[in-house]
Amino acid sequence: MADEVELSCREAARLISITFERVLTEEESVQLKFHLGDCDDCQHYEVQLKFLHEAAARYRR
Ligand SMILES: [Zn+2]
Repeated sequence: MADEVELSCREAARLISITFERVLTEEESVQLKFHLGDCDDCQHYEVQLKFLHEAAARYRR
């Protein structure tokens, strides 16, 4: 339906943080992948968040 679904960086960041709480829907993950393929800032953001979550998980044990 929506022709070019373009995610803003803000929405992308929201989806990235959601991936740590639940599995994204097909549509969400496609949109996110599409955005990440094109946006260095959000790629870095995802890497950072992943790192933080892993560090937090390790710290908790
Ligand atoms: Zn972005």
